[in-house]
Amino acid sequence: MAVFVVDKHHHPLMPCTEKRARLLLERRKARIHSMYPFTIRLVNRTVQESAKQPLRCKLDPGSQVTGIAIVREDGVKQVVLSLIELSHRGSTIRNVLQSRAGKRRRRRSQLRYRAPRFENRAKPSGWLPPSLLHRIATVVSWVNRIRKRAPLTGITCERVRFDMQKLIHPEIDGAEYQQGTLFGYEIREYLLEKWSRKCAYCDIQNVPLQIDHMVPKSHGGSDRIDNLTLACASCNQKKGSLSLEMFSPHRAKKLSSAPNLHDAAAVNATRNALWKQLTELSIPCEAGTGGQTKYNRNRLGVPKTHALDAACTGTVFQLQNWLVPTQQIKCTGRGSYQRTRLDRFGFPRGYLLQQKKVCGFQTGDQVISSVPSGKKKGTYTGRVAIRASGYFNIQTAEGVVQGISSKNCRLAQHADGYHYLGNLGANFNSQTKEQRLLPALKAQVSALSIG
Ligand SMILES: [Zn+2]
Repeated sequence: MAVFVVDKHHHPLMPCTEKRARLLLERRKARIHSMYPFTIRLVNRTVQESAKQPLRCKLDPGSQVTGIAIVREDGVKQVVLSLIELSHRGSTIRNVLQSRAGKRRRRRSQLRYRAPRFENRAKPSGWLPPSLLHRIATVVSWVNRIRKRAPLTGITCERVRFDMQKLIHPEIDGAEYQQGTLFGYEIREYLLEKWSRKCAYCDIQNVPLQIDHMVPKSHGGSDRIDNLTLACASCNQKKGSLSLEMFSPHRAKKLSSAPNLHDAAAVNATRNALWKQLTELSIPCEAGTGGQTKYNRNRLGVPKTHALDAACTGTVFQLQNWLVPTQQIKCTGRGSYQRTRLDRFGFPRGYLLQQKKVCGFQTGDQVISSVPSGKKKGTYTGRVAIRASGYFNIQTAEGVVQGISSKNCRLAQHADGYHYLGNLGANFNSQTKEQRLLPALKAQVSALSIG
């Protein structure tokens, strides 16, 4: 994995190898600029523009994980320098907002009477839900972070296109397909046609049929046409809010063949918004398609991971050095404003610390702690969760270690809303910062070349 390099004025230079970075640090010609992602700063050198080569950042935006690859372009060859997998927290954001809305609704319904209000709210055009906005914001933020550390000359982004209408409803085509699902078609008529005017559960005919949600709305089922079916009054009554499997196990498989479109919808909705923001970055952008990525991956014999998918995006003739380890970056957020913990009914059950810092540490800081003696003797590296007592929890690659005194902790990097997975295994006992971090770098390098 390449090490990012900046000059003494913090301008980005071409990334170098791990060995070169180690030598530069040993000879005091460079110092550590940031630990995550690992960047060194040359002490007394500014490199001319001619020393730079074309460098491309390639992106494979996904709903849960976005793959990022940094490649050096060498004629028709592309040499992989770094692979990054960025794990999003869209589903966490969605759940948190949903639970907040639920609690507010419950509190508001305590009023004696409240007029129904569900149609007096308008969303501005181009509005995206916070969970989707987060995906775009973090990807653009990381492109900018990489730009500060590497002289990017181009961006390639897979503009994934899931054909939602075809996934939902493969049989429509022609004019009907062009104009959208069921344009000019009554839903009820369509369902009668589709389900042959029979109850889907007992096959009874020539009785009034009702529209039934196969996945009940109470279980998160949608009003989409492929979730709807027809049922006679008695079946509909009996089914109630039971799931398909519970009500009619032998028909469940046949009826619920609809694919789950949550992830496809997330990627689809953010596709254009992300592309728009990337093209505003004043770097030439190239678009790739999902089919192209798959073709490149099969032709080059590259396994399927998010980061390697990113490396295969766009026009690729030859791909070299793709066996480099992948840096895992997880979006964690920066904590919550809410200082009151609520129970599931929305009543207070506890209060969080008012202050953000304890003994100079903040939840989310990356720390290196070495415990000299006792039951927890050893060195731990990871994300700290502060406690008022001054005895912290550290989330390491191996798991959470509890009750580490703040006196044994040293800061590796301030909290920035991300968790970086990987163990540095450093000790901080030598004199200079570089000397202290050198074993950490060595350990990191050897760990990386094993993993
Ligand atoms: Zn029936």
